[in-house]
Amino acid sequence: MIDLHTHTNCSDGTDTPAQLVNKALAEGLSVLAITDHDTTSGWQAAQLALRAELSLVLGAEISCLTTNGVSVHMLGLLFDGENLQMQNMLENTRDGRIPRAHKMIELLNAGGIDITMEDVESVKPAGATLGRPHIADALVKNGVVSSRDEAFTDLLHNNSPFYVAHMAPTPEDAVSTIRNAGGVAVIAHPFASHRGEVLSAHDFLPLKNAGLNGIEVNHRDHSNEERNALADIARELDLVITGASDYHGTGKLNSLGENHTHQAEWERLESEADQRRVIRA
Ligand code: AMP
Ligand code: ZN
Ligand code: FE
Ligand code: FE
Repeated sequence: MIDLHTHTNCSDGTDTPAQLVNKALAEGLSVLAITDHDTTSGWQAAQLALRAELSLVLGAEISCLTTNGVSVHMLGLLFDGENLQMQNMLENTRDGRIPRAHKMIELLNAGGIDITMEDVESVKPAGATLGRPHIADALVKNGVVSSRDEAFTDLLHNNSPFYVAHMAPTPEDAVSTIRNAGGVAVIAHPFASHRGEVLSAHDFLPLKNAGLNGIEVNHRDHSNEERNALADIARELDLVITGASDYHGTGKLNSLGENHTHQAEWERLESEADQRRVIRA
């Protein structure tokens, strides 16, 4: 079983990288990708925990914003972690998340909701990429809501009056930066329409031209119709089709390996990186 999209407590997941690797081993996965939001800080710990037959793919999920303001997530896999352009892009996005959280907190306060940046910092693991899930955890701590899920449903979703976007590269910029760093780019859950506005079918050709390698088709946030439409686009543009769990530990319902990537699709994707960068114990 191949799972190419998971999170740890280096961003908004709840498992440490080592716990994630252990869980993948226990579930018998053959390939696991670690793809925290806008950071590679979990790579080393994941690598140290690796053993037995599991193959590890180092990656990141890059937050992007189109020029029309549509939020897009781009998975970068198998890129050179030391690439400066790549690390600059990730760092700029992480930095932009701080003023964004301050603005969201101000809006929540103006709406009469009790939360401070200190509350958010106190629930966020040190060094983790700051995100809405940490604001959600602070709201749970303050008794405003009872779970992350409720926080998103009631207050933090993309169409909420409390939502603020953060500075982020365009999807095309992210794709070319990933490719220049030797990696492969797979667009994550592109038709997850319940999260907010999404791309249209005609937006995929410019991404392909920028170097996009694949589309995450099988994801719990896609309906069957959305999966079929994406698979058609992937076939038309000759892109790899992936599936993945987007596992976040106890932060979300998604279970490891609940969606997976077929071996042949994975082999093609891996062959499109500039080097063999899969890690084996
Ligand atoms: P951000 O990157 O700060 O905009 O926050 C987006 C993150 O929130 C994504 O990683 C999602 O996995 C997470 N998220 C979105 N909806 C929910 C939800 N209902 N429950 C828990 N996490 C969610
Ligand atoms: Zn997340
Ligand atoms: Fe995502
Ligand atoms: Fe994700």
